[in-house]
Amino acid sequence: MTENTTTQLIQDVVDHVIAEDREALTQWGDSRDQWVQMGGDLLKGIDKVISSDLRIIKDDGSIGTYPAFRVQHNNACGYYKGGIRFSTGVHQSEVETLAMLMTLKNALHDLPYGGGKGGVHINVREHSKRELKEVSKAFVRMLQNQIGPYKDIPAPDVGTGEETMDWMTEEYKLLHPNQPFINTFTGKSIANGGTRGRAESTGIGTFLSYYYLVEAVLSGSLSVNDDHTERKETVKAIGEKDNVIVAVQGFGNLSRAAAIEAANCEKKHTVIAVSDSRSTIYNENGLDVEKLAPFKEKNDRLPNEEELKELGVEGVVRDPDAVLTLDCDVLILGAIEDQITSDNQADIKADILVEGANGPITKEADEYLESKGKVIIPDVLANAGGVTVSYLEWVQGFTNDSKSKETILKDMSDRMKNVSYRVYNAYFSSESDVTMRFLCYKLAFLRVIDLMKRSGKIS
Ligand code: GLU
Repeated sequence: MTENTTTQLIQDVVDHVIAEDREALTQWGDSRDQWVQMGGDLLKGIDKVISSDLRIIKDDGSIGTYPAFRVQHNNACGYYKGGIRFSTGVHQSEVETLAMLMTLKNALHDLPYGGGKGGVHINVREHSKRELKEVSKAFVRMLQNQIGPYKDIPAPDVGTGEETMDWMTEEYKLLHPNQPFINTFTGKSIANGGTRGRAESTGIGTFLSYYYLVEAVLSGSLSVNDDHTERKETVKAIGEKDNVIVAVQGFGNLSRAAAIEAANCEKKHTVIAVSDSRSTIYNENGLDVEKLAPFKEKNDRLPNEEELKELGVEGVVRDPDAVLTLDCDVLILGAIEDQITSDNQADIKADILVEGANGPITKEADEYLESKGKVIIPDVLANAGGVTVSYLEWVQGFTNDSKSKETILKDMSDRMKNVSYRVYNAYFSSESDVTMRFLCYKLAFLRVIDLMKRSGKIS
């Protein structure tokens, strides 16, 4: 996933709106094309990058140095919002791309937020809790005047979680004794103002984005353009199966919740594989994911074959990439970016691919899979359950009215359903052969530039 890919897609949307979609934004009159272009140019740029090398004293007395970034991409739709990741994959251009994706995701999902993203280049597995706490606090010191409940609201991402958000909130509170702090971060622990269901929300939302696709197609309510008939038939055939076979890449927070949601779905789904960076666990008859989940949570790895036996889970251990090319109907990509590339694209057997992670399919592979008639539910649509619940947490922080897990997840699901149906309707009825990713970008783009125009950012 590169910044170029994302900016190119934004330019493609601009070109499409100007040349082919003459119906959009006609209220802008003669200046329409000029403003569309201007909005696209703004969206391809970045509002602000804050970066520094964080330094802490490690447990052994030496100094640890970690490059850190916060990218505030665009705030046309509201305060900057997006997670902070701790990973060795972090570098500035990656964080910039992820921040752009957040702007599009938040706009697509009608959240009152712009897009931002943070990252620290660090291997979390090589650090003690104390060291990670010091890094988290140093990160907040770097950003102390750039974040806040009405400015930029970070949240967890890869390698961070509620504990990180609690540490960060504490540091922010110490630095700003006379200011509101409660909504500076979302994804906090429940005791600290967090929301029930936040941890599972992204994974559940990811599964639901696929489920709503099947539901929408089976309902017969979609008007389908000829260009999309083949894909509609693919989805319909899966929806009509008695047992849908699912493989899940990853078994972290997101993938665990997605796998459990699939296994417990009222329609029968069999999860045949889950994976992590070291292995795939596979059983063609289905895995007991609920038995596997606590082991992974406790040990931060999947069990070996002996441990599988001890757990009473039937399955075999394979290499980590094996999960991608298994014979299945649905492949949920819930790990990290750039997992399906030109090297393995031809071996993908799933008909529906769901991007739980951000950017798990490279541009080349995306084009290849599209040409093969696969249905790809893009990240900006599929993985918004987390930021949607972040929004509910933010609202809860102002109202002090904490809701039950059922209420929160129901609210999130309803919001995901609305947006998903809007996308699927627009996608299947679209005239030209646009991809679902392109369509999501376009819907997001139209919202962002509408707000840019209203606020006078473009005129
Ligand atoms: N990191 C998550 C995402 O990429 C959540 C962001 C948030 O809650 O602000 O969507």
